[in-house]
Amino acid sequence: MELEHFEPQSEGPGKKMNPGTKPILSANLDNVSVILVNPQHPGNIGAAARAMKNMRVHHMAMVRPHTELTELSIQMACGADDILQNARSYDSLGDAMATAAITVATSARRGRRRKDSLSPREMAELIAPLTLDNRVALVFGPESSGLSNEDIEHCQYVTCIPTDLAFSSLNLAQAVLLLCYEMNMATFPKRQRKRVLAPQIELDGMFEHVRDALSRIGFLPSDDPERMMLVLKRIFARAGLDSRESRIIRGIMRQINWYRRAGAPVEEGPKDSGS
Ligand code: SAH
Repeated sequence: MELEHFEPQSEGPGKKMNPGTKPILSANLDNVSVILVNPQHPGNIGAAARAMKNMRVHHMAMVRPHTELTELSIQMACGADDILQNARSYDSLGDAMATAAITVATSARRGRRRKDSLSPREMAELIAPLTLDNRVALVFGPESSGLSNEDIEHCQYVTCIPTDLAFSSLNLAQAVLLLCYEMNMATFPKRQRKRVLAPQIELDGMFEHVRDALSRIGFLPSDDPERMMLVLKRIFARAGLDSRESRIIRGIMRQINWYRRAGAPVEEGPKDSGS
């Protein structure tokens, strides 16, 4: 029984790397391990290893596997045989997750711990930062029966992959894939797209232009143009225009006015892309 391999690999929270070379780490997947309790099908073990490697999770452990690794395991691992070769076997779940500070049971059935059950995404977002300094064990049950209540209660958290309630049991390797996918996604810092919106003074100018052009072509009712303008303002507010976009709208209005005055074919009119 080897527990030593499971010492946390600390990267230090928020440690700064050389600017421009590596991103600041928000998780460390080297501290995540997948524990398969009594796996039964050699193919599933191989497919689970492949799914793990796809998602940058490399530590697999098994608790009293009900099968040997076979040629099919290697085939299904499809290049992730290193994970199979390094996988340790343990006599009990307690031994397999002894050095993990965070333990997560996975179950298709919500059962008694329904209230604590988190989705894989919620789970991953919760525990990803903790992987910087702590070992995490993701625990999966045998294909035929799933984890026992005792095993589930041994873990701190339970996660249930949302499915059709009438058909909730996933293939073991697919469940491993989904959990590891969420862990992998949670390692990437959320990218906030910078967006500088047009200031009100530009929008006021644009609406002036819109009001003028739409009146000239008879689109705005002369008795109550503001009612339609209000609708248009709401549409533009939802879109959240930036300065360039508001200039494009003004360019269109300019073209409408020009066309109305000149009656010339559109192709020959002044062009203003707003840029
Ligand atoms: N027949 C079992 C399911 C076993 S599937 C049952 O009814 O519980 C093998 C393992 O895949 C499960 O023990 C669990 O670890 C994982 N799994 C399958 N479907 C899942 C789901 N919807 N949510 C979370 N884990 C799931």
